[in-house]
Amino acid sequence: MTLSGDDYRSQGARRKLVQELRNKGITAASVLEAIGQVPRHMFFEDTALRLHAYEDKPFPIGCGQTISQPFTVAFQTQLLEVRRGDRVLEVGTGSGYQTAVLAAMGAKVWSIERHRPLFLSTRSRLESMGYKASLYHGDGFLGLPGYAPYDRILVTCGAPFVPEPLVDQLRAGGVLVIPVGEGPVQRMVRIRRAEDHSVSREEHGDFRFVPMLADRQ
Ligand code: SAH
Repeated sequence: MTLSGDDYRSQGARRKLVQELRNKGITAASVLEAIGQVPRHMFFEDTALRLHAYEDKPFPIGCGQTISQPFTVAFQTQLLEVRRGDRVLEVGTGSGYQTAVLAAMGAKVWSIERHRPLFLSTRSRLESMGYKASLYHGDGFLGLPGYAPYDRILVTCGAPFVPEPLVDQLRAGGVLVIPVGEGPVQRMVRIRRAEDHSVSREEHGDFRFVPMLADRQ
């Protein structure tokens, strides 16, 4: 059996996943609602893996990259405190699942991916699913200055340090969520830019992401 469209079976599996995320400590109703809506199985290239799409696990998506674990997506999105209408920049489009979750929450999303094949396939996937987001092939270390400032910036790959251009592209009152660390494990960092433009930093536990790399492919 493979799942293609969105049917009662995948909807039921999503409800279970949402409950699992609640049990693991995700409380933001807007985040849980978006995870309950977005058909994660449709973001898998490999149809055999679609059966596992509602397990709380990361999976390969091609180009040596992964679709993040649902808990990680929920945790980062909750930390980001996304509000309807926010301008959000995502670094690391990958499968586009996180992009779709942000769009389902009513955010206006720009997203950058360094792998051209992923950028191309995800752009057509999101288009065909009806999600509105502006996707770019480029280097997330530079952000996307042409559309700055952003209310929220989310990095979904492990960064060796906090890139200065991303902090610069945050609006006063804005929030940047970024996993930081050079090894296989990163600290989840939340940076806030106050109204007076001073910057504060908090840490929220350890995660494992694919590395953020500079040269585009
Ligand atoms: N948000 C994605 C997660 C994909 S994994 C999802 O939900 O599927 C992280 C992605 O970051 C990978 O696709 C990787 O190619 C991309 N990436 C790594 N370094 C990057 C950079 N410097 N700029 C943009 N994207 C980058």
